[in-house]
Amino acid sequence: MLLETARLLWKIRNEQWLSPEILDDIRQKRLREIVHHAYNNTRFYRDLFTKNGIAPSDIKTKEDLTLLPPTTKSDLQDRFQDLVAVGYSPENCYVYHTSGSTGTPATMLYDSFAKAYTGAEDYVFMFDVGYKPWEKIAYTKRTPWTSHPLQALGIMRACHILSSLPEEEQARLLQKVNPSLVVSYPLLLHSIARAARNEGCNIHPKAAIVGGELLTPQVRAFIEEVLSTSIFETYATVEFATIAKECSLHNWHIHSTRCLVEFVDGRILVSGLINKALPLLRYEIGDRGAPKEGVCPCGRGYPMMQILEGRSGDLFILPNGREIPPLRVFKTRLILDSNEAAKRYQIIQEDYDHFTIRVVPTPAFTDVIAQQLKAQLVEDLQYPATVDIEEVDTIPLIDDRKLRVNISRVRKKCCEDSG
Ligand SMILES: [Zn+2]
Repeated sequence: MLLETARLLWKIRNEQWLSPEILDDIRQKRLREIVHHAYNNTRFYRDLFTKNGIAPSDIKTKEDLTLLPPTTKSDLQDRFQDLVAVGYSPENCYVYHTSGSTGTPATMLYDSFAKAYTGAEDYVFMFDVGYKPWEKIAYTKRTPWTSHPLQALGIMRACHILSSLPEEEQARLLQKVNPSLVVSYPLLLHSIARAARNEGCNIHPKAAIVGGELLTPQVRAFIEEVLSTSIFETYATVEFATIAKECSLHNWHIHSTRCLVEFVDGRILVSGLINKALPLLRYEIGDRGAPKEGVCPCGRGYPMMQILEGRSGDLFILPNGREIPPLRVFKTRLILDSNEAAKRYQIIQEDYDHFTIRVVPTPAFTDVIAQQLKAQLVEDLQYPATVDIEEVDTIPLIDDRKLRVNISRVRKKCCEDSG
């Protein structure tokens, strides 16, 4: 495994600088292979191809993929056995579960090559952001870090900081570890940075890698200033690991030779090109995004995507059917962020025209700010909704790591059937 990862690391590190045309060729070849594999080895895709009257040989390019209807999260939940390829099972694969933060949990399998491949991609990213193998990494995670043999030799020493500890404690541990790279979640790292500043902790990693939730410019600027570091975001899911990552020029590059990404009416569909254990074609992740045209001056050949509007589960749907993505309520969040008026907060749509802003207040939280919040949310929504402010002692993180800021308790009629 270790040798395989090292070989892949070298390969991927070089691959990212290839021209878009060469990368397209690699992608095309892998697409044809995985389509045949999925057809020949899974009942689900054999059924799907047959039902739609198409053969694997009909799909040669990204454009041909549109012949195939998307695979959904419900398919993964309900027809898991039919999606697992012949010869693979949870016993001979790496097993992962989605956290269920945006719905019902699902199980995903990675074969050992796919696992090594995604691992190598992560290492490439770490080196790209300036990390050196003899330096220390700190992960703020809820699950323990699995050690690897190289650690004993002082290579890629990683320290796991339990994300369920109080933020002050996590800040003190980070100071003690003194890592050159921190891997965390945006809002968790924001809380840690705030605690670090209040406690006078001295934490200055070269870089911080975050992902999993929306990072507002305000939060990014705060963390970068307090920790005097640079933040790099990743876009990852349990089904595909890291799909895209941010370069130093703040462009999101798609791992296009492993993940073929389509944008259909703003919805993101991903086809995994490497993982043979559980092939997923045109899988609808439930997030929204758009392609970004052009070439990035950083020199990477991987295609770019535009910043996500966040998890579609966090969309607010107004009585007139208009959808409000998380970024649209950015100014409401800015009031709390810039005044440091809340330790944590959530914006909850209770009903189509009724919202609650739930706040764990700091001493800076005042009635004036509460009034500003109400007015700003109405303005952001461009709808005269009723807005209540609820002050609470705590808001738990999902799985001790992520905070879901936008929560909608209403669903669009057409979405109810698919769950
Ligand atoms: Zn770039």
